[in-house]
Amino acid sequence: MITGKNYIGNQLSALGNKTFKTFNPLLNIENQWIITEASNTEVNQAAELAAQAYKTYSKMSGAKKAKFLRAIAEEIEALGDDLLQVYSSESGLPNGRAMGERGRTLGQLRAFAKHVEEGNWVDASIDTAQPERKPMPKVDLRKMNIALGPVVVFGASNFPFAFSTAGGDTAAALAAGCPVIVKSHPMHAATGEMVSSAIINAAEKTGMPNGVFSNLNSSGIEVGQVLVQHPKVKAVGFTGSIRGGRALFDLAAKRKEPIPVLAEMGSVNPLIILPQALQNRAEALAKTVSGSITLGTGQFCTNPGLIIGLKSDGLTNFINTLAEEIVKVEPSCMLHPNIAGAYESNKANAVAQNGIEVLAGYDADVKPNYAKQVVTTVEGETFLNNPTLHQEVFGPYSLVVQCQNETQLEEIISNLEGQLTGTIISDDNEIGAYTSVVNTLQNRVGRIIFNGLPTGVEVCPSMLHGGPYPASTDSRFTAVGVDSIKRFVRPFSYQDWPNDLLPIELKNENPLEIGRTVNGKLTNNKI
Ligand code: NAP
Repeated sequence: MITGKNYIGNQLSALGNKTFKTFNPLLNIENQWIITEASNTEVNQAAELAAQAYKTYSKMSGAKKAKFLRAIAEEIEALGDDLLQVYSSESGLPNGRAMGERGRTLGQLRAFAKHVEEGNWVDASIDTAQPERKPMPKVDLRKMNIALGPVVVFGASNFPFAFSTAGGDTAAALAAGCPVIVKSHPMHAATGEMVSSAIINAAEKTGMPNGVFSNLNSSGIEVGQVLVQHPKVKAVGFTGSIRGGRALFDLAAKRKEPIPVLAEMGSVNPLIILPQALQNRAEALAKTVSGSITLGTGQFCTNPGLIIGLKSDGLTNFINTLAEEIVKVEPSCMLHPNIAGAYESNKANAVAQNGIEVLAGYDADVKPNYAKQVVTTVEGETFLNNPTLHQEVFGPYSLVVQCQNETQLEEIISNLEGQLTGTIISDDNEIGAYTSVVNTLQNRVGRIIFNGLPTGVEVCPSMLHGGPYPASTDSRFTAVGVDSIKRFVRPFSYQDWPNDLLPIELKNENPLEIGRTVNGKLTNNKI
């Protein structure tokens, strides 16, 4: 049952007097559930409980945290089709997508469970004492990663499961030993409550401290702002727009005690098609790219919003085919009227820029909240001189930039803002002649793709989902895959600490048999 209440630790609570409803974009009506926004009292209670819970939860063994994470996955599964239906009625996304995204979310939780059970993530480093060293004896130093403290997680509208309540950020923070307070996304608050109930059930069944998880509702930005400024909060995980992520980053930096805001934000994911590839397979490429632009109504952070090529017959051919193909795609529903409205206004702003030519756009009438896809083109010089053209238009929109020559291509790439991904489409060994282009692209992106598409983000340890600002606020970290745990830890050293008081990961006996760097050598052995 959906109550519309907040979870303050294990308790449902609705002390506030502001309520709101979520929206079914397919039916173009409000959903029935009445959601109560969290009051400042509840924000405080959640933060205090999280700080209390941190004291015990951060010291819990990997095995216990793994049990909790696996129990969350089981409890989410147990919600069955009811959860999928609520997901679809709050996002307009079809059942197949709901199932796929739930599967990914469960997989992430289980991957983190295995990761903390194995224990290597603490990155243990030990330098044993040398009492006889001259002229000064050397102390015993042992370093490992420890949990930062309570983490606030902001979910994105476009992934109600995988980047939200029990999504990657929450799984990573809980795995690290950090209690989590979720600022529920207002567009899928009921989905958020159901997933939260699963987390709370799992916490109770596996004996986790009250406050290890809270879920706060809000219809606007205020609850999030109060949370980010709360002194008991020690880090923020954010997935969403550049505007939102940057606002929270600035707010956190202004605190008396600044805290990290690990924000993964928008991106236009440049796709560079090299001349030979254009010459040999322009039509086939245009068909594939058209599918990628419109996939999921273009509502992916890895949507290819920018295609770059050198002027040639091949590029003209590509452009013409792309224009033919894009209008063949049946328009689909966006997540929410606000997202559909933002798409229309951002698109209108983009096509109103000087020098932009609309190649093709879906023209017929569509149902409310459905997006009409558009592809445009521009000269390289115009693109270079107008930063507005570099901005993400969140939805099924893409811009083809026609470069005069390789020098301009490189200049365009080097002037791009930081991106999540960059793709090179090449024929045979063509790429060998473009080393400098590849190197320039590497400096602007977090992941480089060869002859593929940016849409589709594999969840595995070697994935890097992040990139130079503004793709993320800290390009050293990934938001996807078990390595994302590193965002919520800090390295910590014990000096001359008695063996029996050390955490299990640093004890001489190495009972977990984890990999440790001992006196400069990686080993699983005891000391
Ligand atoms: P959003 O509008 O930025 O909202 C995300 C969350 O942040 C919401 O809970 C929102 O609350 C809150 N928020 C926004 N501005 C705020 C502010 N100034 N102060 C405090 N809180 C604020 O993003 P979205 O529409 O949900 O998601 C779409 C965007 O996310 C796209 O740009 C997409 O590219 C990006 N995205 C990135 C990734 C990635 O991994 N890099 C993944 C998925 C999506 P309110 O709704 O109440 O304002």
